[in-house]
Amino acid sequence: MQFRAAILGLCLAASAAWGDPQKAAQLRDAALRDDTAWNVLESLTTEVGPRPAGTPAAAQARDWGVAKLTALGFTNVHVEAFPKRAWLRDAEAAEIVGPFAHRLALLGLGNSVSTPPAGITAQVVVFDSLAALKAAPQSCCVGKIVLVNQPMTRTQGGDGYGNAVRARSAAPEASLRGAVAYLVRSISTSTARAPHTGGVQPWKPGQRAIPAAALGVPDADLIAHMAARGPVTVHLSLQSHVVDATAWTVSGDISGNEPAAGAIVIGGHLDSWDPGTGAIDDASGIAITVAAAKLMAATPHRRTIRVVMWGSEETGGSGAAYLAAHKDELGSIVIAGESDVGADNVYGLQLPEGAWNAPDIAPLESVLAPLKVMAMRAPPGEGGSDLEAIHDAGVPVFALRQDASRYFDYHHSQDDTLAIVDPVQLRQNVAAWAATLSILADTNFDFRKGQK
Ligand SMILES: [Zn+2]
Repeated sequence: MQFRAAILGLCLAASAAWGDPQKAAQLRDAALRDDTAWNVLESLTTEVGPRPAGTPAAAQARDWGVAKLTALGFTNVHVEAFPKRAWLRDAEAAEIVGPFAHRLALLGLGNSVSTPPAGITAQVVVFDSLAALKAAPQSCCVGKIVLVNQPMTRTQGGDGYGNAVRARSAAPEASLRGAVAYLVRSISTSTARAPHTGGVQPWKPGQRAIPAAALGVPDADLIAHMAARGPVTVHLSLQSHVVDATAWTVSGDISGNEPAAGAIVIGGHLDSWDPGTGAIDDASGIAITVAAAKLMAATPHRRTIRVVMWGSEETGGSGAAYLAAHKDELGSIVIAGESDVGADNVYGLQLPEGAWNAPDIAPLESVLAPLKVMAMRAPPGEGGSDLEAIHDAGVPVFALRQDASRYFDYHHSQDDTLAIVDPVQLRQNVAAWAATLSILADTNFDFRKGQK
């Protein structure tokens, strides 16, 4: 098998000018036998662990990224530093005081303010949805703790998250109504007790800042059931601090043989939340894109594949920093893609308007079909939060859509660990990325053509 692949590789080297489906299929099959992604993922989660921007672990992750890309043969490996105001968690605890005492599983939300050192004790007002809170009168919640207990819908595309996550940022709605603290049911599809954290916008001048935290799903339900029977009192202590720090984005290239043909920017984010080891969010995105790019090194291709490990996605900043650092060379980025929905199977590829009709891209549909990856005709959205800024500035994006059915059971919780990654699905991701990159790296299609 290996001998035959080598012969095929040589033939392709001579003939591949534009997107070549045979070469893409060869890379796809090589990816299904390749453990680079698993090794990268295991290494980052084991050797660095949780790595929020602004912590010493983020500096370790930076050094890890440089060493890993260098060891794998990437060139132009470098670090891009940017300033970061980082919110960091300190001690947190909460319990139901009455009708009976019960410890609560909770995590403060990024950018929450602290409670007084002795904490806050108050009665809870429960709303079944964010809409119900917004419809409540201004007088509803004076001196109370507001809980929005809106469940999240499980969907393959992950759009249940977009709907539910608005409740995470609703502390200002509670503050407007006189609340002393804001609790949200974890933005989660699981019934496990582990809470799921996440970032919220910093308080704006003129707003009355109140502490905000996410409760484990069963605890939010328990309070809702109790509140239907009578008053529920909760004690809450949330401590945190904010530091001026530096964050780092790490970048490395697999060079193409036609520098004038530009680069494809791909990657994931290097930072993670603190409760787990950030395996699916987003060490797997880094692992998948590094492994796919590394496979490309074995075959000739026109464009450079640039793998970027963005340094502050969770609490924001790395997308804007990337735009600021590269604004004069955006024209050389032919297309960009980010992997940031875990490690479960890719089920579809979205390309910019018109791309699927290009003669040297259309055959990619057949290359992806055995992987159960569909050619999706709808163009992608922003392509990943680290790409939003460069996409808004005109860089086309593609999206390899991952099955998110399971992702939000673990996302931003203590269960985001290596244990929940399926190595077979991880390889399927690499195969979809490698085949796609192979075509995108060689195609003659102008992805900017379909853009306004
Ligand atoms: Zn992420």
